[in-house]
Amino acid sequence: MSTEENRDLSLVIPVFNEATNLPELHREITKACQNMKKSYEIIFVDDGSMDESFLVCKQLLKKDSRIRIIQLRKNFGQTAALSAGFDHARGNIIITLDADLQNDPQDFGLLIAKIEEGYDLVSGWRAKRKDRFITRRLPSILANWLISRMTRVKLHDYGCTLKAFRREIIKHIKLYGELHRFIPAIVSNVGVSIAEVKVNHRKRRHGKSKYSVWRFPKVILDLLTVKFLLSYSTRPLQIFGIIGLISGIIGGILGLWLAYVRLIRLEGISGRPLLFLAILLIVIGIQFITLGLLAEIVVRAYHESTEKRIYFIRDIIQAESEED
Ligand code: UDP
Ligand code: MG
Repeated sequence: MSTEENRDLSLVIPVFNEATNLPELHREITKACQNMKKSYEIIFVDDGSMDESFLVCKQLLKKDSRIRIIQLRKNFGQTAALSAGFDHARGNIIITLDADLQNDPQDFGLLIAKIEEGYDLVSGWRAKRKDRFITRRLPSILANWLISRMTRVKLHDYGCTLKAFRREIIKHIKLYGELHRFIPAIVSNVGVSIAEVKVNHRKRRHGKSKYSVWRFPKVILDLLTVKFLLSYSTRPLQIFGIIGLISGIIGGILGLWLAYVRLIRLEGISGRPLLFLAILLIVIGIQFITLGLLAEIVVRAYHESTEKRIYFIRDIIQAESEED
């Protein structure tokens, strides 16, 4: 992490095959930031692009020393790219946005105003989203509804990359898998204030979207992970144990009843389906309780283990005057 002097603002932009969008994006950002009287840096995180993205970034860097390029060794995914950007950002406020021009740099002002009002995290809400209905907006409506029911953070649009963070809150969270859309839910755990503002959203004009409808089931699985981590990661036995106890107790009662039938009433029980159910429930009960105990051990190891990164950087490129 850099110890150089801080900026007011860091723009963190994940880039995966966006060469055709970058020059226009840079122009728009420059225009939006010109009037703000804030010092800023633009961090392009090249997430293993196969097109000219990296070269285009380098050309832009020649003209603008506020640019820094973080080149990842391969395509690690949007979450890892954002995470790399966060680790190297020097701004007091960090704003994330997509490289495909779907987010509008003119909205920076709105986000920053909210942060300056005192919020720790400001999330963009693409009120008029310009994406296909069936493959994008419909899954997103369902996902947003579910996420907002299952996490304590109530937002309209979790998937919007345009977000602003106060530096302190983003520096200490660790992201895995594709969890970037859950950042508000994850940080809510440590007590942060979150605001939402409506932002502009535009059609993708160049390049292709990097996701298909298969993102939806992944988001739902991620939601399960986040829900579990948020609610039970420090006390897994409480969730596994409850399931195990209920199952075990029902199995036990059935077993006792069957014992009564066999021993007191002297009836045969070998052909009774109930016997199998009783055995199944008892075994499941024991399994779940043991799983919960194992999880307790794993959780301790997890919380006490050393810092781990989810990406590997090949190089960090910046103007010579910026080098330490
Ligand atoms: N992106 C990335 N790595 C990936 C996939 C996407 O850095 O593996 C970037 C991509 O370049 C863009 C942003 O993440 O800047 C959002 O991607 P996209 O526009 O394809 O998503 P959509 O708008 O369709 O949800
Ligand atoms: Mg996009």
